[in-house]
Amino acid sequence: MCGGRTAVAARPVQQVIAGREVWLGESTRVRRLLPTLGRRMVGAWCFIDHYGPDDIAAEPGMQVPPHPHIGLQTVSWLLDGEVLHRDSLGNEQLIRPGELGLMTAGRAIAHAEQSPVRHPALLHGAQMWVALPDAARGVAPAWQHHPDPPAFTDAGLAATVILGELGGAVSPGRTYSPLVGADLTLAPGTRSQLPLEADFEHAVLVASGFAEVDGTVVEPGALLYLGCGRRDLRLASEPGARLLLLGGEPFAEQIVMWWNFVARTGEEIAAARTDWMHGNRFGTVRDYAGEPLVAPPLPATPLKPRRADG
Ligand code: MN
Repeated sequence: MCGGRTAVAARPVQQVIAGREVWLGESTRVRRLLPTLGRRMVGAWCFIDHYGPDDIAAEPGMQVPPHPHIGLQTVSWLLDGEVLHRDSLGNEQLIRPGELGLMTAGRAIAHAEQSPVRHPALLHGAQMWVALPDAARGVAPAWQHHPDPPAFTDAGLAATVILGELGGAVSPGRTYSPLVGADLTLAPGTRSQLPLEADFEHAVLVASGFAEVDGTVVEPGALLYLGCGRRDLRLASEPGARLLLLGGEPFAEQIVMWWNFVARTGEEIAAARTDWMHGNRFGTVRDYAGEPLVAPPLPATPLKPRRADG
């Protein structure tokens, strides 16, 4: 279960989230920024792993065997390197920096993600999840790859819109609740003002470099939660920086999140786990050299739904 007890901030706030280190398999160390103690969601964004930049020239790099998802979308976003996506719908897609890999799990999907055998030296990116609202969480699973999401520039700032709309640019990625995700490159010496949707809550991840977000210096690898009620956001960087902006309408529904599943009850989670372990529902990821992931045991205490702010 996720920690966190901080309410959705209706007004602008600043909450620095340092994240914690987690190993993905044996080869990739990530910083988990959501869910974390004190913050479970930002809009419908319910999971953020930031990895790298790592030199994997002499290593296998990312090796995540087939595993299941329900009730969410995964967003794969690379700043450096390449990741090969394979899923149980039969899709096989190499994802490069600046390309959107968007997987809608809906009622059930399985996928594997790995660095290709021959890969660039650097690996740097983010794996993020969006919780699906109740009305959409039973949709058919789907995979979308958008090689060239829309972008705009403004006063030293170059933005690529990953999901939703920002600065008049609209991502082709399918969404099921009002939200935004964007990659922001700040050239050295940038001072910029980014327009925001005031009804959304927002957070900014500093992926590399050093940036001042709303006047506060944010270290690389940290997430700054900003609350709601902002019509714009001051961004500045002397050396240059790479940021991810994530936001959305506060997610009102209670969710249960465990392992790779987002559901509404502990029973649904247990059923999904059982189906995965018995080879039901999720299909098969073909052409993956290795065994699928084994689900961890369910926690001894019952999984209970929790609100985004509870
Ligand atoms: Mn996954």
